[in-house]
Amino acid sequence: MKKLLILSGKGGTGKTTVASAFIHFAQAKAFADCDVDAPNLHIVAGVDAEPQKSDYYGSQKAVINTDKCVSCDMCREKCRFGAIESTDEKYKVNEFSCEGCGVCVAVCPTGAVTLADDVAGKVELYNGECVFCTAELKMGRGNSGKLVSTVKSTLQKNAHDAPLAIIDGSPGIGCPVIASVSGVTMVLIVTEPTMSGLSDLKRILKTVTAFHSRAAVCVNKADINNTMTAEIENYCEENKIPFVGTIPYDKQASVAINAGKSIAETDCTAKQAIKEIFDRMMRMMEVTP
Ligand code: SF4
Ligand code: SF4
Repeated sequence: MKKLLILSGKGGTGKTTVASAFIHFAQAKAFADCDVDAPNLHIVAGVDAEPQKSDYYGSQKAVINTDKCVSCDMCREKCRFGAIESTDEKYKVNEFSCEGCGVCVAVCPTGAVTLADDVAGKVELYNGECVFCTAELKMGRGNSGKLVSTVKSTLQKNAHDAPLAIIDGSPGIGCPVIASVSGVTMVLIVTEPTMSGLSDLKRILKTVTAFHSRAAVCVNKADINNTMTAEIENYCEENKIPFVGTIPYDKQASVAINAGKSIAETDCTAKQAIKEIFDRMMRMMEVTP
């Protein structure tokens, strides 16, 4: 299976718009949303089956058995994260502050505190005509990189026969991005023609090349600043990074997204531009859709 990952240096650049259009153009049988902090590919990718949901366990959190607690205050005193609260001598753990270090377990004289696996999110698998995997991290939970790896391995396991998988990555350069980059065939970076867009692009290219992944770049809403678009194109040329095209600002794109549709289902100039970028990417990856 060849895997194309679509990334951007920050949110709001049109990454999911491009990913959903690619899924339509490729009639992809396998795709995933690795933006586990704010997944929304399912809204525009035309997935209507019911997902199989499974719990994702990130780390452990302390739990107090109040029947065994003698209100000695040792756990609250020793917890350096301020995660144990007491009201009227009743002790409880604040799940958002607990780091699962286990100090409270060690100091409790009655064995009232234990560490338990914490459900940090849900993995959702749609397994019908096509296989789509996504996940959602619970509020305040870390381990998003591990969750992204789980999404990718679930997709691989359930769609190993598919010739191409399209993966919508997380914005930024953090753990979930690093987890999504590993093992992909190519990365398409969607940027915007601004100073911050170029700066974000440089940072994400560093991350991608550190993992020896092949990257290509396109600019969304390119015509809102043709000078910056040219600067980004020059930067790519100087650094021998394939520049695969520009997408014009197009109000039809927002209309389609607000209606829960992919831009590929509309007839507009942005769609044509994305199709040309898609064709270039498929040629570079040697995929025949
Ligand atoms: S496990 Fe560590 S962080 Fe969590 S409540 Fe106990 S002492 Fe505090
Ligand atoms: S250390 Fe144990 S007994 Fe003491 S307050 Fe905490 S949970 Fe209760």
